[in-house]
Amino acid sequence: MSSLAISLLDLEPDAAVCLEAEDYERRPGKWCSGCGDFGAMNAVKRLLAKEQLQPDRTVFVSGIGCSSRFPHYVNAYGFHGIHGRALPVATGIKLTRPELDVFVTMGDGDCTSIGAGHWIHATRYNANMVVMMLDNNIYGLTKNQTSPTTPQGHKSMTSPSGAVLPALDPLQATLGVSNASFVAQTADWVPAHLYATLQAAYEHPGFSFIRILQRCPKFTPNVFLQHVQNPDLTELLVHENGVDVPSLEQLFKARRKHDPLNLDDARALAHRSDMLRLGVFYRNDSLPVYEKIRAVPKVSAEEKVARLNKEFERYAV
Ligand code: SF4
Repeated sequence: MSSLAISLLDLEPDAAVCLEAEDYERRPGKWCSGCGDFGAMNAVKRLLAKEQLQPDRTVFVSGIGCSSRFPHYVNAYGFHGIHGRALPVATGIKLTRPELDVFVTMGDGDCTSIGAGHWIHATRYNANMVVMMLDNNIYGLTKNQTSPTTPQGHKSMTSPSGAVLPALDPLQATLGVSNASFVAQTADWVPAHLYATLQAAYEHPGFSFIRILQRCPKFTPNVFLQHVQNPDLTELLVHENGVDVPSLEQLFKARRKHDPLNLDDARALAHRSDMLRLGVFYRNDSLPVYEKIRAVPKVSAEEKVARLNKEFERYAV
């Protein structure tokens, strides 16, 4: 970590300092060797540097899980919440401090099981934030339990004979929510695509949901293996309003021109299982954004305390 990083949060908000990617590292990530969370972290730090986001105006919010350690490792403000509750916290931050840049990291169990209700409603609220759902198909931090995205038949601590249900598809589910405005999929083993997807998500004025396929060599070493080893099994969705990375043309021959404004096509593609698809499935920049239509009037700290005291007095015995 550069010495610059140590004092970033002490900077005057408008201090003209050019920040490099490593300046956004508070401390090195402690994940297993080969964990896909490292790739996601690298892409995030690159984005922060590219956009020159000020650490004192940037917030990382998470729930519980391996990927939810992000707030500890990024040099910005952070809120490491409880299981499944990252999204209501992040929505509250956007309501009261809409000028802040908010990033959320969640795992698949965190988002699609414990936090499933919040996931659906936060998608509908469409507050402006970047939401990274790091999907390794398992509960990793709590040591190998079946999550909703675990493939059917996969054996775990809680399903020793194999997961009995078909896996939940986060893309299909998110695309089914009213007012969903940005739904994308990328993978930790394609760093250029991951970075470009993050960039598109950041530029989108609304709730940007990215499912990041994330390798977990500890508990699900094989779930993405064939796609990692054989790029011909992956199709890139390319479009000027989506993600197009020319440097990937050599590696990924299968490319599909997909207009992210076409919701019907996005849903149809999300339902197909013939190939793995990476790219922006849906993007609509003109949908209602919650913090704009429900703007919270600014009040002073003294007034907030006075209101709280008044509220408490109603219930005082
Ligand atoms: Fe990464 Fe899996 Fe290790 Fe968690 S258990 S740090 S997800 S490799």
